[in-house]
Amino acid sequence: MKQYGILGYPAKHSLSPAVQNAAFKALSVDAQYGVFEVPMAELADFIGEVKGGLADGLSVTAPYKEVVMEYLSEVAGDARAIGAVNTVVNNGGVLSGYNTDYIGMNKALVEVVGSLKGRRAVVLGAGGAARAAVYGLKAEGAEVGVYNRTASKALALAEEFGVEGGGLDDVRGGDILLQTTSIWMDDVDAGVEDLISEEVLREFEVVMDIVYKPLITPLIETARRLGLRTITGERMFLHQAIVQFELWTGQRAPMEVMEKVLADNLS
Ligand code: NAP
Repeated sequence: MKQYGILGYPAKHSLSPAVQNAAFKALSVDAQYGVFEVPMAELADFIGEVKGGLADGLSVTAPYKEVVMEYLSEVAGDARAIGAVNTVVNNGGVLSGYNTDYIGMNKALVEVVGSLKGRRAVVLGAGGAARAAVYGLKAEGAEVGVYNRTASKALALAEEFGVEGGGLDDVRGGDILLQTTSIWMDDVDAGVEDLISEEVLREFEVVMDIVYKPLITPLIETARRLGLRTITGERMFLHQAIVQFELWTGQRAPMEVMEKVLADNLS
């Protein structure tokens, strides 16, 4: 039986085991997906065990998306440009790294917006998810701007990728607003106005928040009240999980099964 799992610390609350195990079962793939909650001090030993056959593939989450790259035999060009790996494939002890986060993000947008070419997209945040967003949106031909609470980080990211950047006060309207900060996780009392004013928000057509806990974030709630089209974070999660499944199994993922598991686990 093939073994897969999520590498993170913490990792216990991940939705990936439920989603991937349901997909394996639906297609009668002889595989199981577990949780590898590994402290940083044990990472090197853990990767050694993976190479020795402990796992055929990994999902990678915080805090390992960047550091895991040091241990891989090869890293795909897009993952290297983003600077993060969220998927590992183990081929007989040769570990290859991929990034499916930006693909998931783009698919979630494209299924609502259609082509991203020439669309003006504003990314909020300058962390790992924002890097994936800027890379992915640029790759699809969008006109990108990136803005962050700590403006210097957004400006550095903007310079690296050749896009516009600044602080949160510099945000102006556009076609798509893509929220990638962890604000709702770090501060349960945070409001929309801590990120963007309603006046600027109403100038967007589509608002996507990549956070899915809570599923309906204050931003999504406000955008809906203003009559804007919205995309919640589980759509990105779903699409990145589909690409992971396909990298590991070479089979087309059972999207509806995976969608249902997510719907049953999130509200
Ligand atoms: P990260 O690297 O730690 O970056 C965090 C970002 O959030 C930084 O830009 C930080 O700004 C900003 N931030 C934090 N608290 C804030 C606050 N109170 N007000 C304004 N900005 C604040 O995190 P990440 O890896 O990019 O992940 C970001 C979020 O995306 C997480 O919630 C994660 O769960 C979610 N995510 C979802 C998916 C999915 O499949 N849907 C995939 C990946 C990640 P400063 O630079 O000013 O500190």
